[in-house]
Amino acid sequence: MPTALEVLAEEAAGCTKCKLATAGRTQVVFGMGDPDADLMFVGEGPGAEEDKQGLPFVGRSGQLLDRMLLEELGWTRDRVYIQNVVMCRPPGNRDPEPDEISSCNPWLEKKIEVVRPKVIVTLGNFATKLLLETKEGITKLRGKAYPFRTGVLIPTFHPAAVLRGGGEPMAQMRADFIRAKQALAA
Ligand code: URA
Repeated sequence: MPTALEVLAEEAAGCTKCKLATAGRTQVVFGMGDPDADLMFVGEGPGAEEDKQGLPFVGRSGQLLDRMLLEELGWTRDRVYIQNVVMCRPPGNRDPEPDEISSCNPWLEKKIEVVRPKVIVTLGNFATKLLLETKEGITKLRGKAYPFRTGVLIPTFHPAAVLRGGGEPMAQMRADFIRAKQALAA
């Protein structure tokens, strides 16, 4: 018997709700991890490597995510659920556009509903603004936990921005992961 997420992933695999479906995607990157995860990550959208493998955060950004998760929580990615605001690669790694984000949003909402995480960590501006329904930027929003659905939402920088930004954003991201760990224990 397939799980609710497996059924959803099968449906999503043929999604043509937005122009990313015909903009050169190799496949839909639905998400991965524990369907009962207490901790969920929401990123921006698949890059070239994710598009190729069909899995989220498998490139350089993913390596940083894995490292932080291991160093601050002692966890590997099979214990969490990882997905993006858009499930298909935007061409040339451009930003996802508002119509693409809103077309993909019902899929994201369904995944949140099925997994019911205690803590959601949003990675970067796109996921944070979408889920907190704000125009405020990540620099201002990060640093605290926000009540969200059945748990809390903790915004942090996108790992790609941290890789570009060096020491200070890295320390701030680490602090956000510690915040997530505390929220999970609460
Ligand atoms: N960046 C994202 O936002 N998501 C991925 O899956 C990979 C890189």
